[in-house]
Amino acid sequence: MKQTKCNCGLNNKITCPKCSRIKMVMLLKNGNNHLKHRRSNGRYANPVWYSHLSKNRKPENVLINSMYQRFEKSNCKPFTNKLMFFDNQTKQHLTSVTI
Ligand SMILES: [Zn+2]
Repeated sequence: MKQTKCNCGLNNKITCPKCSRIKMVMLLKNGNNHLKHRRSNGRYANPVWYSHLSKNRKPENVLINSMYQRFEKSNCKPFTNKLMFFDNQTKQHLTSVTI
């Protein structure tokens, strides 16, 4: 059964890097470091979103569509080349969307 709450111990409320079903990576166009996360090693990483925990029982394509719709309204859209979606549990690549 798929949990709709964070049960990894991080106690996240909305999304969780471990418990969310879908992971979405935004591949940004060159030179948009202000939108990236700075890692502890000083390198920049592309933004990553996770699907809402409350939707964990929905079909994958429903989750992907709703994440895509959130992305469409986000300020990252003009700077993004491509979206990649992964199953966050198996890390399997599901689909990519060129923007
Ligand atoms: Zn969790």
